[in-house]
This record gives sequence, C-alpha cells and structure tokens, in this order.
Amino acid sequence: MLRIGHGYDVHAFAEGRRLVLGGVEIAHTRGLAGHSDADVLTHALMDALLGAMREGDIGQLFPDTDPAYEGADSLVLLGHVASLARARGFAILDVDCTVAAQAPKLAPHRAEMRRRIAAAMGVDVDQVGVKATTTERLGFVGREEGIEAWAVALLDDGRC
Ligand code: MG
Repeated sequence: MLRIGHGYDVHAFAEGRRLVLGGVEIAHTRGLAGHSDADVLTHALMDALLGAMREGDIGQLFPDTDPAYEGADSLVLLGHVASLARARGFAILDVDCTVAAQAPKLAPHRAEMRRRIAAAMGVDVDQVGVKATTTERLGFVGREEGIEAWAVALLDDGRC
C-alpha cells in the first residue's frame, strides 16, 4: 500500500553560521541558526518520510535538547530515518523537495543536493527531486530573514 508524507521546516539566518542545504555547504554571508547543522531542506525531507511512516516527527526522534545532536550532520540523521523506514518494511519510492530562499542562488547546487540526499537515503538520484524558488521578495523569506522548505515522500509499506 502506498503511503504519502509531507514535511515542512523553517530556519532563521544567523551570523557566523555555515549555510548547509541538502548536505551541500553553500558560500553565503550568513548561515542558518539551529541546534544541528540547520539543514532546513533535509529536515523537511525527514519529516516527510516520518509522516509517511506514521512515526511522529524529527523533533521526537532527534530532540534539540539532546547534546548528541548538537552540530549534527543532517544527512547522517536522514540516513537513520531511511534505515528506520526499511527496518519497518517500507520501500522509499520517490521524494520531492522545494526550498524557498531569496538568496543565495541555489540552482547551481541542485544537482549536488540531489546526489547527496540520494546517497544518504540509499536510493537512486532520479528518485530525488529538489527545486528552488525565491518568494519575489515577499514575506520573511523575501526579507532574507530565513529559509523554508517543503518535501513530500512516497513510500510503499509492503502490504497489499
Ligand atoms: Mg529544522
């Protein structure tokens, strides 16, 4: 039976932080604030997978009060979620993500994000979509206060 999951996340920009999106470090004047590496795209994707698995959310699985996840590489956490999915009998069929950022330009990094996300989940790169958009300078994204991301995931639970 097919299962669908949706995920959403936001992180605010902060001085003196790295900008990591889809596991790719991108040169920019600021990075995103967060307990882990603040990879907002990968966080949305993990929540999409967990949604399809009906396994809560990443806040439950990787609490930001736990020092173990301080500065954590979100792709490693994504690998844990993908392993958990397989352990529960799910096959990851397809995922698609959208990230909204006014700056920097993300299009040049999309292919590498897809490669890294696919490798972390143990799927083919053609099973991973990544799209980027600005918000035409509207809202908190348009004011360059932060970045938001959405993801959907299609899983097969292995049952008829
Ligand atoms: Mg997050």
